[in-house]
Amino acid sequence: MAERNIFTLRLEDMKRRVSKVYPRVMAKELKRAIKTNELAVYYQPKVDTVTGKVVGAEALIRWRHPNRGLIMPDQFIPVAEKAGIIIEIGKWMMLEVCRQNKSWQDKGYSKYRISVNISALEFHQSNLVEEIKQVLKKSGLEAKYLEIELTESKAVIEEDQTIDKMKEIKALGVKLALDDFGTGYSALGYLKVLPIDILKLDKSFITELEKDTIGRDITASIIRLADILDIGVIAEGVETRAQIDLLAAMGCHIVQGYYYGIPLPAHCFEELYLKEL
Ligand code: C2E
Ligand code: CA
Ligand code: CA
Repeated sequence: MAERNIFTLRLEDMKRRVSKVYPRVMAKELKRAIKTNELAVYYQPKVDTVTGKVVGAEALIRWRHPNRGLIMPDQFIPVAEKAGIIIEIGKWMMLEVCRQNKSWQDKGYSKYRISVNISALEFHQSNLVEEIKQVLKKSGLEAKYLEIELTESKAVIEEDQTIDKMKEIKALGVKLALDDFGTGYSALGYLKVLPIDILKLDKSFITELEKDTIGRDITASIIRLADILDIGVIAEGVETRAQIDLLAAMGCHIVQGYYYGIPLPAHCFEELYLKEL
């Protein structure tokens, strides 16, 4: 019994130490990862359900760790934010995506807009607009083929300069999407004041669609309101035909989710969605 206690204590102590040390180790490894090409971009198609055709894509970051395998963004983006390296990662990501998109366009494929995610911290960096300008210049991509997805959060919505900054980004010709709409902070009223082009209906609404009529009514109202305000709507996390049919009946025809395709590395995305068109 005593031995078990010692063992348990040691285990807890180890866990405590690992949880303290690990983010620090991870942050150090992440800094290296940018230089050693361990970061990768995966692309998930956005599809028009009326034509069944791909109309764009979202770029999602992955970390191909040499020992730990593929690490998902939820596991390392918060560490990158805390360690202050998210700005560097975001810069790398945006340039990589714009270069890739330009290279696909140069190969003669249909031209698509590809979105990148930026966190509140990235949004608030003082020279974001200049960084975006530089990325567009370096890659040669036309601004209209870049979209920025910004998660609705207190940190973003409540800031005084938020609307001005959004307008500056839009003035470049870059599109702006409000991500995860409905999960967090913003009230419907914000839609009227935020200069956004696209609203991304969060997966939680889509899951609710098949369950109850209240969830369905709320989703339909958001889609209607967005339509009145001339904001495009895209549904994310769409996994079933039934969800697609319900969304279509509500007037939402652009969707993204496992039903049409999972996020894929650039060469797979090219093979599957670009070459055949
Ligand atoms: P998000 O922007 O909401 O991205 C959508 C997430 O849902 C992605 O997870 C995607 O793989 C997943 N997903 C897509 N379709 C389906 C579906 O049908 N069912 C389900 N269950 N999931 C689906 P992922 O790639 O793990 O990314 C997680 C989050 O990490 C993203 O959420 C985004 O907030 C963040 N993230 C990803 N890449 C970046 C980046 O380059 N920079 C920043 N700052 N954040 C990023
Ligand atoms: Ca997103
Ligand atoms: Ca989202």
